[in-house]
Amino acid sequence: MSLWSVITRRALKNIFPGENVATAPKSEPLAPLLEIALTGDAAAINEAIADLPSVELKQLAREVLRVRAGEAIEILRSCESCRELLSGGGYDAIELLGTLADNIGARSAQMDIAASGRGGSQRDQGFNTRIRFGPREFLTGTSLDGMSVRESQLQVILHELAHAAGDVIPPDGGNPEESVRNQQRITRACLPEVYERIGRRQYSEVRSQESE
Ligand SMILES: [Zn+2]
Repeated sequence: MSLWSVITRRALKNIFPGENVATAPKSEPLAPLLEIALTGDAAAINEAIADLPSVELKQLAREVLRVRAGEAIEILRSCESCRELLSGGGYDAIELLGTLADNIGARSAQMDIAASGRGGSQRDQGFNTRIRFGPREFLTGTSLDGMSVRESQLQVILHELAHAAGDVIPPDGGNPEESVRNQQRITRACLPEVYERIGRRQYSEVRSQESE
């Protein structure tokens, strides 16, 4: 089964409950692009979205956000250190992210794609939070060097969720160094294999910048 058909089946299960999703219509226009957006590297994605009108760009980024939010929920379910960190502020992180994910694209959604979000913006707490990701930034990934686009997207979702879930990581608005440290905190707790691969190198770079 192709990746696209897996995603389509997942999406259509909600739209056509009880129906055989294999016979349900697909919304075709973004299908090939979505596959690149979900599996390509940053260069391939950049090329694919270069001339995409902003409405389609936002639509594509929302589809990817829905997929990655689902994957982030799976991480929270399966990774104890991640769940512990994200639930330390008194919120059930799985329930919170589930609610935010269900409302992507809705009017006044708590979590959504918007150009103003750039690399990730967040304010207010819990189920009243407002999280925004810039479409281009989200699609191509903006996290620590050495991360894949997918890892970067998972990191940024869990990072903004951590701010929303009672600031279980320090606030870092307008503080790039603290933001990098928070990316490391999230990566260490929620993507430990990625942290092993790149975290130590990143950490030593930040430390050497601080001591200058
Ligand atoms: Zn942050």
